[in-house]
Amino acid sequence: MSEHRTTVAGVAVDTRHWIGGQRVASPRTFTDASPIDGAPIGEISRGTATEARAAVAAAKAAFPGWAATPRAERARLLHTIADGVEKRTEELANVETVDNGALLRSHRRGVMPRVAHNFRFFADWLLTLEHEDFATRGHTNHVTWDPAGPCVLITPWNAPLMLATWKVAPALAAGNTVVLKPAEWSPLTASLLADIAAEAGLPAGVLNVVQGYGSEVGDALTSHPDVRRISFTGSVPTAQHIAASAAANLTPLSLELGGKSPLLVFADADLDLAVDLAVEQYDNAGQVCLAATRLLVEEAVAEEFTRRFVAKASRLRQGDPRDESTDIGPTIHPRQVTKIDGFVRRALAAGARAVIGGHPGEGQYYAPTLLTDVRQDSEIVQEEVFGPVLTLQTFTSEDEAVHLANDTRFGLAATVATGDPERAERVTARLVAGTVWVNCFFVRDLKAPFGGSRHSGIGREGGTWSFDFYCDLKNTVTAPKGWKDHG
Ligand code: NAD
Repeated sequence: MSEHRTTVAGVAVDTRHWIGGQRVASPRTFTDASPIDGAPIGEISRGTATEARAAVAAAKAAFPGWAATPRAERARLLHTIADGVEKRTEELANVETVDNGALLRSHRRGVMPRVAHNFRFFADWLLTLEHEDFATRGHTNHVTWDPAGPCVLITPWNAPLMLATWKVAPALAAGNTVVLKPAEWSPLTASLLADIAAEAGLPAGVLNVVQGYGSEVGDALTSHPDVRRISFTGSVPTAQHIAASAAANLTPLSLELGGKSPLLVFADADLDLAVDLAVEQYDNAGQVCLAATRLLVEEAVAEEFTRRFVAKASRLRQGDPRDESTDIGPTIHPRQVTKIDGFVRRALAAGARAVIGGHPGEGQYYAPTLLTDVRQDSEIVQEEVFGPVLTLQTFTSEDEAVHLANDTRFGLAATVATGDPERAERVTARLVAGTVWVNCFFVRDLKAPFGGSRHSGIGREGGTWSFDFYCDLKNTVTAPKGWKDHG
């Protein structure tokens, strides 16, 4: 490990920024540690407004050339980046696991293939991006998607490369240039992405990576007048700060924020399936924005559901995320353990009962927890914990279930377990959520809109919605030959 470089899981990672096609160091660094054992794994360049401005300038300088690059060539380059991701899947998976503590087997088999897919999908979509011309009183309307300009993309630590590439891929495909600011708790794979993009032949300045603390580097990016789009995934307080910072230039924003999503289990559901769906919410130690952390179970089956849930959840193995047999890894940071435990302590003090867990484990691990006897208006039901902590409440009618499900300030996702298709239709129509799953969870097609209502965000990502956001849509109206407008 040096000031500019580290080796993680046998992979060499440059710990400097990537600006205008060059590695740039800051005078100061910060220490990146692995959640697995708390050991330091890298001294990362600690960005300031200086590097932020340099990155935006590089993105601005590269923009005209990239925007003018024919679509087919942009698509080819994105496919070449995907090839690079596929070639380095094993390395990326290992580095990501050491850096953010999520399961290696998920990174290998699910996440990194999705990262490559993100590039391929948006490259292919770009080539189909067309709107049929239509006529108005003999005039032709022709809609085009013009690249917007330099985009600032700010991402969290819970799925670092996956979430970054949901933004990087469509932004680049659309002809924009990009400044990516990865989270300070998991900065390494963004640096590897810069290597892969450079190897693929992406021109200098098209993709830039600025490392650092959000509080130190963020404002210079989000308040910059040359930035044309800001796409942010992270927490509500940071989003509020960014929205205020972007307001000076009226920079359009896309915000993917937190959630407190419900899983509604009706008495007519396949109970084993419902239990599987509930236990799945401990994935990534509960550090998933979409996690259905509020189990709402119809009273008639609540006892049996809880019995089966406890039986299944107690078989989960918590430990080193590199181990194939591990089901739950560590939480990201010692601060996160303290935060999670604070939520649980306050809930217990307010009368909640821990059916399982309710306490930290060793190091940065937190015991999978299920709390009952919680009030709808309590903090533990209303606020996002972002850890392996679920609550269980019961209901006796469909109306009550929908009321409880919708009664938070969030609206990211909801899951419904029922054996009655008509009920599924009725209930899903009434739920406030960007995504509703019926008898399933986490199935996501990039063609589908993804995002949240209320405090879970603004805007949608995916398919055409990503292009609409990253482009300036233009309608050109052309008069027929010889037309004279007499008003
Ligand atoms: P966070 O808001 O603390 O940080 C997210 C990013 O914002 C980081 O890169 C951070 O450095 C940066 N940042 C912090 N302050 C900033 C500032 N003043 N200006 C600009 N950037 C700043 O969030 P987190 O703790 O990293 O992530 C967890 C949150 O993300 C949870 O709330 C989770 O639900 C949410 N999340 C949402 C989705 C989604 O798609 N809706 C997906 C994953 C995570």
